[in-house]
Amino acid sequence: MRGEGLRTRMQTCGNISHRVKQNVSNLDDIQRWMEVAFDMASEALENGEVPVGCLMVYRNEVIGKGRNEVNDTKNATRHAEMVAFDQVMEWCRSRDLDLKDVCAQTTLYVTVEPCIMCSAALRLVNIPLIVYGCGNERFGGCGSVLNIASDDDLLTGSSLKCISGYRAEEAVDVLKRFYKQENPNAPKCKVRKA
Ligand SMILES: [Zn+2]
Repeated sequence: MRGEGLRTRMQTCGNISHRVKQNVSNLDDIQRWMEVAFDMASEALENGEVPVGCLMVYRNEVIGKGRNEVNDTKNATRHAEMVAFDQVMEWCRSRDLDLKDVCAQTTLYVTVEPCIMCSAALRLVNIPLIVYGCGNERFGGCGSVLNIASDDDLLTGSSLKCISGYRAEEAVDVLKRFYKQENPNAPKCKVRKA
C-alpha cells in the first residue's frame, strides 16, 4: 500500500527533469534510504530531540547523515539537514571534489519536510531532489508554510523537486510522541498581564 501511493505520486510528478530521474532510479532506493532516515529520527527521539532524521546520497553512497541536534548543542540551527550537510562539505573537502558538482547529483532523504531555513540552504547548494515523509505544518519550506524549494521565481539557488508522503503517518506519529513529552529546554510560559 505504502509503495503504491508513492508510485502514483512519482508518476504524477510530470516535470521531473532528467537529472532528477538519474537520482532516484527506483522505489527500492527510496525504501532503503528512508529506512536509515527513520532510524536516525528514532535516535533523535531517544535523545530528547525533535525526531527528524536524514541522509544525503550521492551516486548510491551516503555522504552525509544527520538527526536534529538543537537541544544537545543549544543551537537552533542544528537541524538534521544542516548536520548532514556539514558532513557532505567535509566529504568533498577530503576528496578534493567540487561541492556544487556533488550536490547537483545528491538526493536528500528526510523524515519530515525541510523547514524554511533548510529549504533555502538546499536551494543555495543546488540539491535537485528531496524525498520526505510527512509535511511540516509549522515551518515547512516545501509548500506547507512557504514554498521555498520549488519556487521558480526566487533569485537564490535553483528550484528543486520533492517527492513527499513516504511513510508519512509514521513520521507524524514519531513527532507526536516527541511533542507529548515535556521539552526540558522549552522556554517557560509567560503569564499574560491584563
Ligand atoms: Zn530545518
